[in-house]
Amino acid sequence: MTIQIPENIKPEDHRFGSGPSKIRPEAIASLGQSDAQYILGTSHRQAPVKAVVASLQVGLASMLNLPGDYQIVLGIGGATAFFDIAAFNLIERRSQHLVFGEFSSKFAQSAAAAPFIDDPEIIESEPGTHPISHRSDVDTYAMTLNETSTGVSMRVERPGPGAFTIVDGTSGVGGVPIDATETDVLFFSPQKGLAGEGGLWLAAMSPAAIERVNVVSQSRDYIPPFFDLSLAIDNSTKHQTYNTPPLIGLMLIDHQLQWINQNGGGQWALKRCATSAETLYSWAETSPYAEPFVKDPSQRSAVTGTIDFDESVDAKLVASTLRENGIVDVEPYRKLGRNQLRVAMFPAIDPSDIEALTVCIDYVVSQTR
Ligand SMILES: *Cc1c(COP(=O)(O)O)cnc(C)c1O
Repeated sequence: MTIQIPENIKPEDHRFGSGPSKIRPEAIASLGQSDAQYILGTSHRQAPVKAVVASLQVGLASMLNLPGDYQIVLGIGGATAFFDIAAFNLIERRSQHLVFGEFSSKFAQSAAAAPFIDDPEIIESEPGTHPISHRSDVDTYAMTLNETSTGVSMRVERPGPGAFTIVDGTSGVGGVPIDATETDVLFFSPQKGLAGEGGLWLAAMSPAAIERVNVVSQSRDYIPPFFDLSLAIDNSTKHQTYNTPPLIGLMLIDHQLQWINQNGGGQWALKRCATSAETLYSWAETSPYAEPFVKDPSQRSAVTGTIDFDESVDAKLVASTLRENGIVDVEPYRKLGRNQLRVAMFPAIDPSDIEALTVCIDYVVSQTR
């Protein structure tokens, strides 16, 4: 090893990946506690597992401050599966998509590829910014709360009264402010802000969204059961999933939500991420060699910070040196191709560890330049 970072400046926890998130050691330890054996390895259609699902449904509704008539639905396959679920069950004829990075682009591609709906309207903007929605001849407005690939987040708003919105909240939920009443479907994978495991999707659905599923199902010739949202809705009201869920994932999500809600709820989690973000971006702004990639401060993500370096610094070398020292996953999104680091600041990550990380980056740079 060429450069050794002094132990006393290292963060407490070594994980800064933008997906999956750091999982708190306390959550991991809870899986080894004695009552875990009454859940893990038991039927997901019996009371012990259903109680975990019910608890996380209540916990999520509380953290998101959901209106009482919204429903928490869940299923297998992650946000990527939900892109196709949206095409099969929610887009009636045509959707509009805001595209500003890898994930929002995949969401749009799912709608574009579906042969039973019209080609979507796509509004695109340069990486590092986000486009703005406008009212148009569509029945569904698709947005992305936090574009994880570029570190841009957006304020979600209906583009007009009654406009039907579907929002990919993956990576944003928990750490990026969102008013759930501006969304009809807020879906996400739980391995980011909720520090769960990949493989599941969760969705907060408005009464209009439930109604939309009923209407759309009548006009489709065929919906594969795995993608059938009505089956997921029916199962979710019984605190189950259509097919077998990862039980460890459910336990971790529930643990994280209880931790957040016991500490002050959604506002507390948002503040924690905002504190981390303030630390990271103000460090970059005052650094002689670093700067935030996202120029408009109001579009900078509070959960996935992207930091550009000037040519005097080799960001790849910084990332690999941190990795050799046990500090992992600050590599940028590969396809963006910038001299950059990407730092996750999810609720599970301690703001003081973000501070320590910036000190470590400065140390590594001082040893390599
Ligand atoms: C990670 C991510 C996804 C994909 O999630 P999977 O669980 O891998 O399907 C989709 N959208 C956003 C914004 C993400 O950050």
